Amino acid sequence: MTPPVPLQLPTNDEALGWVEARTADGLARAREVVAGLKSAEGLEPLDVLRRWDEVSLVLSNVGALASLLSNVHPVEAVRTASEQAEIEVDKLLTELKQDRALYEVFAAADGTGLDPVAGRLLDKTLEDFRRAGVDRDDATRARLAEINERLTALDQEFSRNIRDDVRCVRVAPERLAGLPQDWLDEHPVDEDGLVAVSTDYPDTVPARMFVHDAEVRADLAQAFLGQGWPQNDALLKEMFDLRHELAGLVGYDDWASYDAAVKMIGSGPAIPEFIDRIAEAAEKPMRRDLEVLLARLQRDVPEAEALDATNSSYYEELVRKEQHDVDSQLVRTYFPFESVRQGLLEVTGRLFGLRYDPVPDATTWHEDVAVYDVHRLEDADGAGEGELIGRIYLDLFPREGKYKHAAQFTIAGGVGGRQLPEGALVCNFNRGLMEHDHVVTLFHEFGHLVHHVLGGQAPYTRFSGVATEWDFVEAPSQMLEEWAWDADILQSFARNAAGEPIPADLVERMRAADDFGKGIQARQQMFYASMSYWFHTERPADLTAKTVELQERYSPFHYLDGTHMFASFGHLGGYSSAYYTYMWSLVIAKDLFSAFDPDDLFDAQVAGRYRDRVLAPGGTKDAADLVADFLGRPYTFDAYAAWLAR
Ligand SMILES: [Zn+2]
Repeated sequence: MTPPVPLQLPTNDEALGWVEARTADGLARAREVVAGLKSAEGLEPLDVLRRWDEVSLVLSNVGALASLLSNVHPVEAVRTASEQAEIEVDKLLTELKQDRALYEVFAAADGTGLDPVAGRLLDKTLEDFRRAGVDRDDATRARLAEINERLTALDQEFSRNIRDDVRCVRVAPERLAGLPQDWLDEHPVDEDGLVAVSTDYPDTVPARMFVHDAEVRADLAQAFLGQGWPQNDALLKEMFDLRHELAGLVGYDDWASYDAAVKMIGSGPAIPEFIDRIAEAAEKPMRRDLEVLLARLQRDVPEAEALDATNSSYYEELVRKEQHDVDSQLVRTYFPFESVRQGLLEVTGRLFGLRYDPVPDATTWHEDVAVYDVHRLEDADGAGEGELIGRIYLDLFPREGKYKHAAQFTIAGGVGGRQLPEGALVCNFNRGLMEHDHVVTLFHEFGHLVHHVLGGQAPYTRFSGVATEWDFVEAPSQMLEEWAWDADILQSFARNAAGEPIPADLVERMRAADDFGKGIQARQQMFYASMSYWFHTERPADLTAKTVELQERYSPFHYLDGTHMFASFGHLGGYSSAYYTYMWSLVIAKDLFSAFDPDDLFDAQVAGRYRDRVLAPGGTKDAADLVADFLGRPYTFDAYAAWLAR
């Protein structure tokens, strides 16, 4: 058998025809295999599963790449065709999962003789079908199909509204005092003598953090927290209503219960319990740090009583700088982009026993994209050729029409011996010096990519790579962030223009500064998580009013009049009611990290055990079992609670 080879992507001129043909071929192939499954007689259960996994593979190949291209491709027609491809794949998947005759093929399969992974695939397949309503009457199934199709369109429109609603605040250059010089150099004045600051992250994040002029910060906060509104308000309400209806039609109390049933957390009502548990644990550290922020604010504005989005980032940054002697602008000088990218590859290569070979001649959708082949090394010294186990694409700079956040996208899901896992990181970093926060984000997102590749040798598409419980999937990435906070590791690549490595005591202070505000951050996260849960469960008529209520209850910062942050809270699309997952995964990540020796994060034994027991199995086992296999005990809250209280 010839080993699988990487996918050849089309040139931008060919991309439209390529996407259309690939979509048509994939859909036709899926239908053909399904027809064969339904008409064949006397198939062995394993053969049934293999054929079904073939359907999953071809549809995931079309859908995953379409999702990427609709978010990154420079040619608008390709983005549009890719959105259409995603809709068609979703539509066919919905149709198949409601196909009674197909369901009967799986229901009739006898799982007793199957190996554990195949048995799990059969169980999960039956569950997928029942959750899609296959056992409901014709009218219900028709309604479910209609709802799913509408939800896909709504989700895309929601994202598009956010992506396209880039706002701009134009101010005289002297009012931007506080921003780093390289930022100012990149933002020359226009013909009116004003500087445009957009709501894109590379503009707005530093501006809200550094600009001294409170009015400018207030204007930026209004612009940023106004994106997507009012156009997304009615759209979101329709989305929440349809999700609720869908859950009811397949036998669940509400969307959150439907959604949580296939996650680590297990049930809908466990979500607000978890939110309150974290909120309570964070109460004391939040109050302690808020007092410090308020006291600092009152030195500038004696009559101030509380903080909000106009001053929270600014004073958090100021307190970090003044009390922990961390000057972000000095820190940035140690993180030139190219060194960080190289360092990331060296660190993760050493940790997971991988080598990344640049593929300069690979065709990509944009000249900024860097491509690497991933090889698994036989031994820690890096001897030998190393088996090719995947390909990665790094698309890390902002541009017009591109996805605005940071995420890993699948290009191809890996199936052992059949198809190489390939994925892309899509981020929006500066080309020059990076904020340390962005370095952490890069490590985080790369954690998803490495999980996708290492877990991409699984025997079935259904369990490939990050196809694990969604509330676990952030844990490996959150854990990998720790490597971007370790002085020894940072010193291996973080060097300033004079070639000096970042001083260890500066890293120590950065860590202390980062610890400042962790209770505040936990509460802010619980505010978002509560919105995601209650919007779906209560379906309030006035989303802004509910936001205000939840913000006052959970967030450390007061609501800023006139803002509607939920309208650009993109996670309401993909994460729906499950935004708690970020914090849930963090609890697991802290527990996983407790197995590593803080003085030797490269310990080959621990790292190897982690790679082989947590990442490589992909979704072939429940996440709770993967964690227990690695830790030698079930997961607990202890490591997280200790970290928060520290
Ligand atoms: Zn993530």
